[in-house]
Amino acid sequence: MSRFWSPVIQGLTPYVPGEQPKLQNLVKLNTNENPYGPSLAVQAALREAVGDSLRLYPDPNADALKDTLAAYHGVARNEIFVGNGSDEVLAFVFQALLQHEAPVLFPDVTYSFYPVYCGLYGIDFVKVPLGESMDIRAEDYRRPCGGIIFPNPNAPTGIGMPAAAVEQMLAEHPDAVVVVDEAYVDFGGESVIPLVKRYPNLLVVQTLSKSRSLAGLRVGFAIGHPDLIEALDRVKNSFNSYPLDRLALAGAIAAYQDEAYFQQTRRAIMASREALVAQLHALGFDVLPSQANFVFARHPGRDALLLAQGLRERAVIVRHFRQPRIDQYLRITVGTDAECAALVAALRDILGTVPAP
Ligand SMILES: *Cc1c(COP(=O)(O)O)cnc(C)c1O
Repeated sequence: MSRFWSPVIQGLTPYVPGEQPKLQNLVKLNTNENPYGPSLAVQAALREAVGDSLRLYPDPNADALKDTLAAYHGVARNEIFVGNGSDEVLAFVFQALLQHEAPVLFPDVTYSFYPVYCGLYGIDFVKVPLGESMDIRAEDYRRPCGGIIFPNPNAPTGIGMPAAAVEQMLAEHPDAVVVVDEAYVDFGGESVIPLVKRYPNLLVVQTLSKSRSLAGLRVGFAIGHPDLIEALDRVKNSFNSYPLDRLALAGAIAAYQDEAYFQQTRRAIMASREALVAQLHALGFDVLPSQANFVFARHPGRDALLLAQGLRERAVIVRHFRQPRIDQYLRITVGTDAECAALVAALRDILGTVPAP
């Protein structure tokens, strides 16, 4: 704290991202990165983009990338907004579309960046408890609000909501924007992008960080009615004209041109996830049904924090949240089969060697 800080800064509680350890040779299953590298076509496009043209500003409107996304998702260019990672897109969404008198609704267990954005912009929020089985239920959101936001599949539970249930929520809230954060949708979830044409209150946000293996490039986007997109453009053009640099634009476009690699890697991750779930069950874990590239698991006889510490001692890192309702769970990213095997071996070691409390 310093007397030079603006008042709003003094009251902020910033988001804490998962650790990016400096140590090599760790089995890193804590931040839901893709274990497979980006497509070789992406890497070639990035090399190609390195050159004299870097002296020039990039296209402030990212039209080439928007046209690629428009063709891929069957929407128009003016229904797309792109940003520097979906975290930036979400920040603009809170400021442009969710800053109203009535509070924003989101689940009590969800992406922990949402309350941070509310703090930054002074937005009231209400946390709506998940159901008994840790699912998001449309009927629990039947109350006046200034907007609704949730990930689908949810994080960190991994549980997906059927498109029909999202549609029910959209129909019940014609006067509120419903933001569906589809960061993990490519691992078995159901996208609601096809509903954008029918629901002007729907905004879908996606990222290239997870299923396209480009967390390091920082590209995310939103799809919705042109009026919603215009609000986001207004914030962006009052903040930074060039959120996507030339490399990000080139790499992102190339990622959508290698559909075969995308399909191959996301299928491999889903298959590894099913194998990992079976192994965790065999070790006595309860695992929530996941449609994401991570699983959320707890062991009835072992404290989750102690398990996470035991894994770290064995060079495997996973994510633990010190938070009511989920402090006995571990969020484990699905790695390669070899990484999953290392995790399972470490857990077997811990469960066999540490006495139960
Ligand atoms: C990873 C993640 C994001 C952020 O993705 P970036 O595009 O890398 O900023 C957004 N929402 C959820 C739910 C995520 O898990």
